[in-house]
Amino acid sequence: MTLPSQRVIVIGAGPVGLCLSLALAQAGVPVTIVEARGEDNFLEQVPRAGTNHPATLEMYDRIGLYRKLEPRGIIAPVFHYWDRAANKLIAAFDHVHLKDDTRFPYVLQCERIKIVEEALKMAKAHPLIDVRLSTSFTHFEQNGSGVVAHVVNPADEAESIAGAYLVSAEGARSIVRKALDIEFEGFTYSDLTLNIEVAYDFRRHGYAERNYISDPAEWSNLFHWKGPPDRWRVHFPVDPAEDQEAVCRPEALQARLQRFLPTDQPFEIVASNLYTVHQRVAKKFRVGRAILAGDAAHVNSPIGAMGMNSGVHDAFNLADKLIKILRGEEGEEILDRYERQRRHVAIQHTQAQTIRNKRLLAERDPAVRKRNQDELRRIAEDPARARAFLLRASLIESLREAEQIA
Ligand SMILES: Cc1cc2nc3c(=O)[nH]c(=O)nc-3n(C[C@H](O)[C@H](O)[C@H](O)COP(=O)(O)OP(=O)(O)OC[C@H]3O[C@@H](n4cnc5c(N)ncnc54)[C@H](O)[C@@H]3O)c2cc1C
Repeated sequence: MTLPSQRVIVIGAGPVGLCLSLALAQAGVPVTIVEARGEDNFLEQVPRAGTNHPATLEMYDRIGLYRKLEPRGIIAPVFHYWDRAANKLIAAFDHVHLKDDTRFPYVLQCERIKIVEEALKMAKAHPLIDVRLSTSFTHFEQNGSGVVAHVVNPADEAESIAGAYLVSAEGARSIVRKALDIEFEGFTYSDLTLNIEVAYDFRRHGYAERNYISDPAEWSNLFHWKGPPDRWRVHFPVDPAEDQEAVCRPEALQARLQRFLPTDQPFEIVASNLYTVHQRVAKKFRVGRAILAGDAAHVNSPIGAMGMNSGVHDAFNLADKLIKILRGEEGEEILDRYERQRRHVAIQHTQAQTIRNKRLLAERDPAVRKRNQDELRRIAEDPARARAFLLRASLIESLREAEQIA
């Protein structure tokens, strides 16, 4: 194989692949980014992640992405926990407690589709990034000095791209992870998650821009996105025994929303989708020159907004290490540290917290529910405990802990 010694091949122009590509290119590393979607359908993706935590905003800022996203998002310093049956606010957490920990003491409610739209524009404009849209990655090979990625290009021809490293930012179905026979350890929830996007201002009922609503029968999440028109996302669990097609019919969505919040008018439903939620972490994040990042390496429930955020944190951790290796400042063994740091975060923070978050919202035992809610209220009312809670919830603690890992 004759290989360009410096090029990094990134599979997937999701938030993780694009942030990684921009961070690498801005440090002088040439990148080829391979994305199956084309100009015609890149923006036609189902609604997915959208809450961006403070540490993630700092990373976006480092690559010049934050200033593109802020005008398209909603700055949300406060989030709420509610009890649905009692229609009662349990606790309000204000990121102001993090004012000495971050330059961004708030989350930015800005959906994944806007993030990839803006980041893709930046990638296309960068002279060191070769963006290959409508190009599907199929397989790869590697040896001690490089990798070759095999793709099918827009003309439907097989093509090979050579580079120094291959990063799978392909999402949960990563071909690279499967080809390397890396186990995706964890479990899949039996209930599905229904996402309904509604043009309705829930703030008039006292909700914040971001709300976690517990209920023994039907917990939910409620998030606000900037329009026009402004939209709110409502999540509900769906029993796997239910007829999925019937669940998604407009009249069934409307009835579910009216049960959640009865109004004298029908809700304007903008979009909906139903998906399966997995809690899984890859057993390894790297084999030789092939590396996993983002959903290719770990997936989790959306409760707590940790999937995309922790994936973007992988991207920046990995970028810093690849830059040092390609500049000859460090040896390849620092990629083992990437794995140690980011697997630790995935297991001890992202998985642990999202599993806990779901349990909290869905708890059925009334005594445990009351105990949990009393505890949340006490934490929110005590500034030191609220800060500690927010450091964990916003993944700042996970980054600080990862720094301590040799
Ligand atoms: C239906 C759904 C709903 C979600 N909702 C939420 C939510 O509400 N809140 C939350 O926090 N998180 C949510 N998530 C998770 C969140 O979207 C992900 O954590 C995040 O998008 C991960 O980013 P990524 O860049 O790793 O992968 P992705 O965003 O999945 O991007 C992967 C990219 O790789 C491309 N690709 C895949 N295979 C190939 C190939 N063979 N060749 C070329 N390109 C390829 C894809 O087209 C895509 O552009 C949801 C995920 C799904 C699937």
